[in-house]
Amino acid sequence: MNNVYLSIGTNMGDRFENLQHAVKLLTENKEIEVVHTSSVYETAAVGYTDQADFLNIAVHIKTSYSSSEMLKICQWIESELGRVREFRWGPRIIDLDILLYNHEDIETESLIVPHPRMYERAFVLVPLIEITPTPVGEQLQRAHDIMQQMDCKEEGVTLWRASAELKMMQPVN
Ligand code: ATP
Ligand code: CA
Ligand code: CA
Repeated sequence: MNNVYLSIGTNMGDRFENLQHAVKLLTENKEIEVVHTSSVYETAAVGYTDQADFLNIAVHIKTSYSSSEMLKICQWIESELGRVREFRWGPRIIDLDILLYNHEDIETESLIVPHPRMYERAFVLVPLIEITPTPVGEQLQRAHDIMQQMDCKEEGVTLWRASAELKMMQPVN
């Protein structure tokens, strides 16, 4: 089984329902075990800032899928939820990124792991740190080290809903 950490974000429509829906689709997949979902954090958009605030979570899964298969599953979930690619870093119903895949360094045309921008994003690191209280491996250790230097308030990341454990919640539809 492969240990994988995902980051899920949304800033369109019913954001909480979008997160629930994405986690439900992960949970329903027989090749995926959802181990943990983080609390839900709210963050003002970075980069292209003229858009609604995001909700973000981190999810720990175990899966038999390869990294490229897992990317396809993430993209399938995005399209199931109706994500339309308009422009990069613009508003989106749902975005699923692969943060870590075991302890591997992956670089293909369609997939880079660890996610190339994860260490500079508080909205990624805050939920990730929450579900990895004891960091195992260099990549998680680095995430923890960087977080210690970051001021979450300054980065605009606030707790929106504590410990939602979305996988345990009533499924939507
Ligand atoms: P960012 O990558 O900065 O978070 P984004 O999530 O908005 O931006 P997308 O439009 O969702 O970017 O994805 C662009 C491409 O990134 C995808 O087509 C995918 O092939 C590629 N990609 C590379 N590495 C990863 C990864 N670790 N997780 C998800 N997608 C990745
Ligand atoms: Ca992203
Ligand atoms: Ca993405």
